[in-house]
Amino acid sequence: MKVKKQMLSLKAYEPGKSIDNVKKELGLTEIVNLASNENPFGCSEKVQQALQAVSNYARYPDSRAEDLRGKVANHLRVSENQLLFSSGLDEMIQMISRSLLSPETNVVMASFTFPQFRHHAVIENTEIRDIPLKDGRHDLEGMQQAVDEQTSLVWICNPNNPTGTYVNETEIRSFLEAIPNDTIVVLDEAYYEYVTASDYPDSMELIDEYDNLLVLRTFSKGYGLAAFRIGYAIGHEELMSKLDIGRLPFNTSRFAQIAAQAALSDEAFVRNCSERNFEGLQQFYTFCNEFKVPYYPSQGNFIYIEPGKNPEELFQFLIQRGYIVRPIKDGVRITIGKKEDNEGLIKLLKEFMENETSSIKLTS
Ligand SMILES: *Cc1c(COP(=O)(O)O)cnc(C)c1O
Repeated sequence: MKVKKQMLSLKAYEPGKSIDNVKKELGLTEIVNLASNENPFGCSEKVQQALQAVSNYARYPDSRAEDLRGKVANHLRVSENQLLFSSGLDEMIQMISRSLLSPETNVVMASFTFPQFRHHAVIENTEIRDIPLKDGRHDLEGMQQAVDEQTSLVWICNPNNPTGTYVNETEIRSFLEAIPNDTIVVLDEAYYEYVTASDYPDSMELIDEYDNLLVLRTFSKGYGLAAFRIGYAIGHEELMSKLDIGRLPFNTSRFAQIAAQAALSDEAFVRNCSERNFEGLQQFYTFCNEFKVPYYPSQGNFIYIEPGKNPEELFQFLIQRGYIVRPIKDGVRITIGKKEDNEGLIKLLKEFMENETSSIKLTS
């Protein structure tokens, strides 16, 4: 087999266990899945209604997603040619990597961030310059120093998955000022709808000023449409037309396009989810402060905590009691759920903190 050598160092994506399997294995009747940052409130009711009208199954979808494109352009007050749609941001990350990365280039990113940035950089056989986070936040100064003439791409996950920390307007502005204008800087704003910080960057304004800036948004998280696989990028028209060359002809389905339009029209639903999320975060902050559990304040629909115990052990403890979280490095990432789910999980976390004795030494 003549598979690209660099692929042998990677693993295929491992999906979390299916809820049905976990239930059966553990004899549980109910499972609360707080592992994948999905929207615990589902999606707008308008989506189901709109989908009833989908017809013509034998016909390909609209390649350019014209109807959705018009609505998103209007919503963001950008031109239609500044948009590019993809089958979730996962596909966008692949498209960007494929177009920009090669053995002649390098890519700059944080060392503790969304894993797909690295995955596709490895496949493209490019040099990866990953800069450690500083206090859980992107070290933009360190990243800037890592950029040179061969840097074609910089990934900034804002807010960062899994830490939930963010880069503010002043920081991103001085970063963009210092970066060569032929290096593309991507702001992955997958959690944009949840952000509450007043100094979070106005990236649509920045796009007018910096031709090398690309902003990513998705319908998977705040809009609750993860099943449909649809997201988009916003950037300068010329850059978008280049990236569009690598796009598969029918990469977003008609179902996804219709669902996204309906979701976009229900701002009240998204606002309500964001408000419930903010309240849910406070529940976790209160617990962490009370039990002196290190955590990062989050701008997303998740929180990363380091309880100072073996994360795998904590994971097992919780799953046996019907709660799934995501162990990552020295901590666990917890998706903010409905109020009662957060309460249930926090009760178990307290029990674990009080009773389990095993401790690990934190590396940071
Ligand atoms: C969830 C997530 C994505 C991918 O979302 P899609 O469902 O593929 O749109 C991209 N980036 C970050 C940071 C994410 O957390």
